[in-house]
Amino acid sequence: MTTATKEKTDIAVLKQFIGGEWVEGTGTREIKSVNPSDSREVVATCKGASKEDVQKALAAAQEAYKGWKATPAPARARVLDKVVALARQNKERLARILAREEGKILPEALGEMEKGINLLEWFAGEGLRFMGTTAPSELPKNLLYTVREPLGVVSIITPWNFPWAIPCWKIAPALVAGNAVIFKPASNTPWLASELVKLFDEAGLPKGVLSFIVGAGSEVGDSLVEDDRVKAVSFTGSNQIGVRVHTICGKRGIPVTCEMGGKNPCIVWKDADLDLALAGVVKGAFGSTGQRCTATSRLILHEDIADEFLKKVVDAANAMKIGPALEEGIGLGPAVDQGQLDTDLDYIKIARDEGAKIVCGGNRVEDGDLKFGYFVEPTIFDHCTPKMKIAQEEVFGPVLAVFRVKTLEQAIEYANDTVFGLTCAIYTQDITTAMTYMEESEVGMFHINSPTIGGEAQVPFGGVKGSAVGDKEMAKEGINFFSKSKTIFLDFTGKKRESNIY
Ligand code: NAD
Repeated sequence: MTTATKEKTDIAVLKQFIGGEWVEGTGTREIKSVNPSDSREVVATCKGASKEDVQKALAAAQEAYKGWKATPAPARARVLDKVVALARQNKERLARILAREEGKILPEALGEMEKGINLLEWFAGEGLRFMGTTAPSELPKNLLYTVREPLGVVSIITPWNFPWAIPCWKIAPALVAGNAVIFKPASNTPWLASELVKLFDEAGLPKGVLSFIVGAGSEVGDSLVEDDRVKAVSFTGSNQIGVRVHTICGKRGIPVTCEMGGKNPCIVWKDADLDLALAGVVKGAFGSTGQRCTATSRLILHEDIADEFLKKVVDAANAMKIGPALEEGIGLGPAVDQGQLDTDLDYIKIARDEGAKIVCGGNRVEDGDLKFGYFVEPTIFDHCTPKMKIAQEEVFGPVLAVFRVKTLEQAIEYANDTVFGLTCAIYTQDITTAMTYMEESEVGMFHINSPTIGGEAQVPFGGVKGSAVGDKEMAKEGINFFSKSKTIFLDFTGKKRESNIY
C-alpha cells in the first residue's frame, strides 16, 4: 500500500450543534464513523443525540427564525457567499475526509466537493432573485403582486452516499429562503456533515439558524418529522424511510419532498458510438461503486451490437483497479459499510439463483489488506429478464443487469418496467430514436449520449413514480419548496369602487 492509503489523523470527536453551541449529545448511542477502505480505522466518533437534544434544537431554531426571516434575502445569501469561499479554501482537505469516511475515490470526492460548491453558488445568487411576480389587475389603480416567504423551522434529513453535495443542495435554499434548519445526516457519514456546519458557523450564520443533530434515524428521526414546530421536511434516502416520512408529513399536512431510490436503465442502440457508450456505461454503473441513486443498474442492448459491446464493458470492468479510496490510480472504491457489502453479495447470489448469467465479477475482494475493507468486484449479469429481482430492486452497488432486445418498443417497455423513475440514458446517433424514447420514458431526468448520472444546480433534479414524492430539488424548484407565495392586492384609488369584480 502507498503512504496515501495509510493516511491517518486523530479520530475526529464530533458534537451536536444546537442553538449555536457545539455540545455533547445526551442520547444512549455512540456513533462511530469507520473508514470503508479499512474498517480497522475509526475516523470519527460522536455521542448520539437524544429526543431531548432535538427538542432543544427545535426551540433554538424557532427563536432564531424570527431574526433570520427579518434579515433581507440578499444579506442571507452573503453568508452563503462566505461558505463558498471557505469551501474552496478547504476543498482538498474536505475531499480527503469524504474519501476516508464514505470511501469515494479521491477524484470523485473532489468532484462531489465542486458540485456542492456550485450548488452553494447558485443558491447564493437566488438571494438576489428571491422574488414574486406582478400581474395586471382587472381594476385601475390596483397593484397586484406576490412575495415569497419562508416556511419556518424545517428538517433536512440526508443519506450517506453524497454526504457533502446533498446537504448543500438542501441547506442552501432553505437558508436563503429565510428558514431555520435542523439538519440530520446519515449516521455513517457525520464527520463531513459536521465540517459543512462548521463552515456556516464560521461564515457568521446567526446562532440557532442551523442546528446539527447526529443520531440514529430510529431514535431521533420521528421527532424531526412529527413535531408541530417543524413546518416542512426535505428527505433523501431509501424508499422504506422516505415513504414513512411522507406519510407522517401527509397526516400533518406539511410540505415534504422525498427523493428516493432508482433502477436506472441505459439503452445502447445498434447505431450508437460504442466507445462513447462504453465510457458512459462504465462510469454510470461502477462510478462511486454504484452507490448513486442515478447509477446505471440496467443495460439494455440492441441484439445486433450486444455481444461486441458487452465484451467491451466486461473488459473495462475487469481492468478496473479496486482499492482504497485515497490510493492513486484506483477506479473502484469500497462499499460504504458491512451492511451495503452484504446487500451487494446477497443480490449477486439472488441473480445467480434466478438464472442470470454472470459474465464478470461476483465476489468480495479480500487480497492482502483489502480484506479489512468492504470491496466487491464490478459485477455484470447477462441475459436478465425484466421480472427478476436484479431487474427490479435497487442494489446500490457495482452490479449491472444486462438485457437484449430486438426493437425500440421492447427496449422502452423494459426500461419503464420498474416501480422507479429517476433517470435513464440512450446512446444512439439517430435523433428520432432518441426522442421517441424521451417521449415514452417514465423518468424525471433523461440523458442522450451521456451517462444516467449527474445533475446541475440550475436545472431541477429528481424522479417520478417510486423514486420521489414532492417537489424536485435544485434550481428554482429547490427554493420554491422552502418558501410559500403570498398574493397582495393593493388598491390605491382612495375611494369606494363601483365594481362587481370582487
Ligand atoms: P436511509 O433511508 O437508510 O437513510 C436516509 C436518512 O434517513 C438517514 O439520515 C437516516 O438516519 C434517516 N432515517 C432513518 N430512519 C428514519 C426515520 N424513522 N425517520 C426519519 N429519518 C430516518 O438511506 P441511506 O441508506 O442513507 O441512502 C441510500 C438511499 O438513498 C438509496 O436508496 C438511494 O437511492 C437514495 N438516494 C436518493 C437520491 C435522490 O436524489 N433520489 C440521492 C441519493 C441517495
